[in-house]
Amino acid sequence: MNARRSKTDRVESPQPNTLYRDTSDTFSGQAIMRDRDASRRLAALYERLLKRFGRQNWWPADSSFEVIVGAILTQQSSWKNVEKAIANLKEENMLTPQRIATAKIETLEWLVRPSGFYRQKALRLKNFSKFLLEKYHGELDSLFSQDLDTLRRELLSLNGVGHETADSIILYAANKPTFVVDAYTVRILGRLGILSEKAYDTVQKYLHANIPNDVQHYKEFHALLVRLAKENCRTRPACDGCPLAGVCAYELKEQDHKVVTDEDRRGFSPSHAEGPAVDKSNI
Ligand code: SF4
Repeated sequence: MNARRSKTDRVESPQPNTLYRDTSDTFSGQAIMRDRDASRRLAALYERLLKRFGRQNWWPADSSFEVIVGAILTQQSSWKNVEKAIANLKEENMLTPQRIATAKIETLEWLVRPSGFYRQKALRLKNFSKFLLEKYHGELDSLFSQDLDTLRRELLSLNGVGHETADSIILYAANKPTFVVDAYTVRILGRLGILSEKAYDTVQKYLHANIPNDVQHYKEFHALLVRLAKENCRTRPACDGCPLAGVCAYELKEQDHKVVTDEDRRGFSPSHAEGPAVDKSNI
């Protein structure tokens, strides 16, 4: 059973167990459950990112339907290119399920072309719009009135809607608490040494068990991870100046390697090399 909290009950540095979801899920025979150390580390990560980058206030959109369009268009594409496609759709007054469902597919393809994979994405937008019109009379409130698990199952049954897209829609358009796991999340948690798993559901269950179950908190945390991945923790990480430098397992290992290499070059034995200063106070 999920422990839900009201919007006004949001806490930035959570402590009590009741803030977290209970889970009976298992992975490799081990229960995925709340781990105090993991909760502390994730809370410390959030605080560091918030302190550096400030609130991100995601998702950048004027309506819930625009969030959904953006979630579909951003598949395998950068947000910068998605913005161009959304600007095209806005210019043609196309950001409604009715207009997308009835538009010529060639027109739609042309408008979303900047986001890449435009044929596939135009079709996905059309499919979603038709589904919404036919089953929910075009009313997102009606679609979103379902409980979270039912809504997620229904979204995942649609062609072209995977876990990340479904959860982006649920969190940012439906305002229901589900953590959006993306490649950035997996990369950052892995590099920090918090979690090495990559499977979507496993990562999500781990985060649900260890991050306070709160819509706004999930939104902000996810957006901050995306910001970190863009600013510092890129494919080739820019650790200098990263808010997690000094506490990140990947960066400390790199530094350690560098110290040993430098000492080697100067003819010292690696066993005499002093490792980098480790801030053990956090993460
Ligand atoms: S210190 Fe480097 S590897 Fe670690 S989170 Fe920052 S950028 Fe990524």
